[in-house]
Amino acid sequence: MLVEREADTAVASANQGYPWKPTPAVRLSMLLHAAAVATVAMQPALWPWALGAVAANNLLLTAAVFWPRGRVLGANLVRLPAAAAERKEVSLTFDDGPDPEVTPRVLDLLDRHQAKASFFCIGEKAAAYPHIVREIVRRGHSIENHSHRHSNAFAFYGLFRLKRELESAQAVVAGITGRAPRFFRAPMGLRSPLLDPVLAQCGLRYVSWTRRGLDVMHRDPERVLQRLASGLAAGDILLLHDNGYSRTRDGTPVVLAVLPELLDRIQAKGLRLVTLVAASYGTSS
Ligand SMILES: [Zn+2]
Repeated sequence: MLVEREADTAVASANQGYPWKPTPAVRLSMLLHAAAVATVAMQPALWPWALGAVAANNLLLTAAVFWPRGRVLGANLVRLPAAAAERKEVSLTFDDGPDPEVTPRVLDLLDRHQAKASFFCIGEKAAAYPHIVREIVRRGHSIENHSHRHSNAFAFYGLFRLKRELESAQAVVAGITGRAPRFFRAPMGLRSPLLDPVLAQCGLRYVSWTRRGLDVMHRDPERVLQRLASGLAAGDILLLHDNGYSRTRDGTPVVLAVLPELLDRIQAKGLRLVTLVAASYGTSS
């Protein structure tokens, strides 16, 4: 009964899809594939040329996968909309949670600065820690979609598996909070050339970042802080992680060592930290 009710909630709060419009590069790539097939059908002897053209095209598409802030494969929010920047808004985003040790401490630090943030949760972790997900929302932050299992191979999944990854995480979050995420960020920022139509079906918008702290790579909080704070301006989307994988020498999660000073600097510049939903839709939920 409970499961049925959760499923109903998930369906009721699912996003409306939108029509998929391929980017010029993707459209050209689809045309090239069709032309290659037609060429081989009519002139079989030309198969090496057709194969070469398709291989070159796929190489370019693969290069685009490793360009997280690029727009070749689809729309990509790398900064907040102009209206949000005019309101002096900045969005802090946290990937890879929720984590039972780190996330509650991140929430306390944000509260101290009356800051709101967006948490790109992994579906499986959200399902494991629903009370933390509820607490994130209760304190006025938003939950967004960071795939269900966060696989290293995500960027190379086919359409079916991509859809399953996005929809599973949508359903978990909607089942816990009553609201499906509106934004998606790919694991490690590596975006499949096939992702865009799936985002459209799920009614999700793709987000990368303006600057990222690389806090999962660096153990030195000062370095992470510099990457995020130097040149910081209204409209920026900042990326940190609340998974606790990276620790300072004394064992403190790097994100917790960076946040107090980062929040102070943002406040000192007169910038307001808001969720991606508030910045993009002018509403908190
Ligand atoms: Zn991640």
